[in-house]
Amino acid sequence: MCSVVGIYGNENASKLCFYSLFSMQHRGQEAAGISSNENGKIKTVKDRGLVTQIFKEEHFKILKGDTAIGHTRYSTAGDDSILDAQPVFARYGLGEISIVHNGNLVNAKEIRKDLTKKGAIFQTNMDTENIIHLIAKNYQKDTLKERIIDAVKKIKGAFSLIVMSRSKMFAIRDPFGFRPLSIGKIKNGGYIVASETCAFELVGAEFIRDVKPGEMITFENGEFKSEMIFNPTPKQCIFEYIYFARPDSNVFGKNVYSTRKQMGRELALELPVDADIVIPVPDSGVAAALGYAQESKIPFEMAIMRNHYVGRTFIEPTQEIRNLKVKMKLSPIKHKIKDKKVVVIDDSIVRGTTSRRIVRMLRDAGAKEVHMRIASPATTGPCYYGVDTPTKEELIASKMSVDEICNYIEADTLAYLSINGIIKAIKDKKENYCFACFDGNYPVL
Ligand code: AMP
Repeated sequence: MCSVVGIYGNENASKLCFYSLFSMQHRGQEAAGISSNENGKIKTVKDRGLVTQIFKEEHFKILKGDTAIGHTRYSTAGDDSILDAQPVFARYGLGEISIVHNGNLVNAKEIRKDLTKKGAIFQTNMDTENIIHLIAKNYQKDTLKERIIDAVKKIKGAFSLIVMSRSKMFAIRDPFGFRPLSIGKIKNGGYIVASETCAFELVGAEFIRDVKPGEMITFENGEFKSEMIFNPTPKQCIFEYIYFARPDSNVFGKNVYSTRKQMGRELALELPVDADIVIPVPDSGVAAALGYAQESKIPFEMAIMRNHYVGRTFIEPTQEIRNLKVKMKLSPIKHKIKDKKVVVIDDSIVRGTTSRRIVRMLRDAGAKEVHMRIASPATTGPCYYGVDTPTKEELIASKMSVDEICNYIEADTLAYLSINGIIKAIKDKKENYCFACFDGNYPVL
């Protein structure tokens, strides 16, 4: 998964991009970058690492101008290399452009093969580079806008895109609207487009509306115009609500925290359990566990603490240290757990490793019974639209029944929220959402 942001018409554009990317760091921690446009000259700074590690004060002396776009990367297509950091910049027949992209294309390989056959050369393994080539090579069309429209009609899959040219900024969402993208008005001037509205809070922007599935927004001459370039067929990613987006964001028109909490309530209604305390897996299970506790009237206890300083790229030199890893990240408050029947809530099970470790940890802490409740259905398929899920073989629910998973994680009971429960929680039409990782109905392949 990744995040994208565009700031249009604000003299501190690149700084506001930086703050926005900082607030969306959860959507990608491998690399980040910003391109800014000062009087038609585009400059880019990008690197591997976290937003605060990459950007220093001196970069903002380079990244001048009143329009800027930015990206945080989590590699789901391409490699974990600096070349695969975004924005992707190019000089082409009509001048200079820079692009940021969230989502995965499903026909990237075919497009690349075709472009390569026609002589194109590529620097990266990202599907985003295909888009820039499609734009650059379309010399039959005189305007960038026409070229962008032609290009996005050739690509298939998930794309929330922002394109910056010398005088304009474009924001586009694929016809399914897999990934979120919202527009806001910055109080001290200009506009913001961002993957999540949590960025709006930080830069002092007011939410205007979402970019619609299939819509292209053009920022030009201080204003923005809308155009539907695809017939919309909404299939928004349900996993944004379940796990991915930050709880203070509103995505697809709903607050993520409230939705997640409601999923917890539904979980308590669907799958009650006789227990003494409700414990969340921090941080991913907190909102759902609160909902579960309130609905079931079982006391909520933060009986597992999380150390926030354990990074994703932890060096694992020996087996002994590897076994310490879960203890380094999560630690039980033993006296709250000892002799209790506990219900543990997490948002999802992927490989089953986390749940297995947590159940063990709770038993070691003296729990009498451990009941695992998951605030989403069993993840049985990978995502082809930008969520970093492993292959089907690695997904525990693709090869084991719920009973077998329960045995594997050594819980007393295990149960998952149904798709119907999710629908009830989001209070929306099922057909507007993509549930492919749960039901195998992939909207585009
Ligand atoms: P696992 O140990 O593989 O079963 O992972 C389960 C944990 O990973 C849960 O606590 C989830 O919150 C979290 N999780 C679910 N999906 C993802 C994802 N795409 N990227 C990173 N973590 C995830």
